[in-house]
Amino acid sequence: MPVDPELLKILRCPACVSGPTRREGPDPGRLELVKDTWLVCQEEGCGRKYPIKDDIPVMLIEEGDKWRDTPVEELPVPVPD
Ligand SMILES: [Zn+2]
Repeated sequence: MPVDPELLKILRCPACVSGPTRREGPDPGRLELVKDTWLVCQEEGCGRKYPIKDDIPVMLIEEGDKWRDTPVEELPVPVPD
């Protein structure tokens, strides 16, 4: 089962919508679905990437942090914990 497209539309990068890393603008932290298994933050300089495991997006800042320096094309297939 793919992730619900309606859910994907409303999800945002948690680092870019709250706290000290909050971005300006009307709709910060927009995400792009990559390889059907990753959500990549579109904010410049953020670079956080959130894996989708068992069809559930893992929207944790600490998870997104792990992949900041990994280029999109090098992202592995996410493995459930
Ligand atoms: Zn972000």
